[in-house]
Amino acid sequence: MNYQDDIPLARRIKSIKTITTKSFLRVGLLFLGLGISVTFLANKSFLSQRKSLDDSINSIETRQNKSLLGHLPYKEASKKDLILFSPGIYVHKDIYEKFKEMQFMAAQRGVSLQLLSGYRSINLQRDIFYENKSIRNQTAVERSRDSAPPGYSEHSTGYAIDVGDGNYPDTHFEVEFEQTPAYKWMKRFASKYHFVLSFPPNNKQGVTYEPWHWRFEGTVNALREFDAANKIIKFK
Ligand SMILES: [Zn+2]
Repeated sequence: MNYQDDIPLARRIKSIKTITTKSFLRVGLLFLGLGISVTFLANKSFLSQRKSLDDSINSIETRQNKSLLGHLPYKEASKKDLILFSPGIYVHKDIYEKFKEMQFMAAQRGVSLQLLSGYRSINLQRDIFYENKSIRNQTAVERSRDSAPPGYSEHSTGYAIDVGDGNYPDTHFEVEFEQTPAYKWMKRFASKYHFVLSFPPNNKQGVTYEPWHWRFEGTVNALREFDAANKIIKFK
């Protein structure tokens, strides 16, 4: 027996109507839900495709956004990539021969290129940054114009070097280095050996001019390290 038999006809019709209306609403909602899901999924897959396409750009942008007081974050070189150049000074193995060659060629003209520093661990950079800050009685912001905060130094890659003139030691790490034959030689010939001045006067990173600080861009890996820095130079 149909359970609705107990209910008067008028009410039965009303209840059927209600059911039908509800069903339509349900089906409608179901389709709407499906529509939203399909749109969402399509969008998501489009976004993920775009994401993979833009991955390199994103990583560069992320690094630029993570810059600290003008300095970009750099990872520490792995120990196996480092080689001892002179007592206490390690450099990336890819720049060892290049610098030796440069030194030799400069010496042919009576110019003494001296390697003052190369690879620095993040710990050493930490000591330099905080020690100098207290010695010079500077705030972190003031100090950051001259020295990179730990984790933000090109030196930690092993591809950055500080160069001095062996005949003019008083100019080591001073702007006056730019008056020396060593600097003049570097300015003219260093690019042949893929060394570039990282912080020229009024550089867009806002770091103090450092005529002694050069970075190597002569391998794909080295170039990749400095991609973000080069993008700032190009687009800022
Ligand atoms: Zn330096």
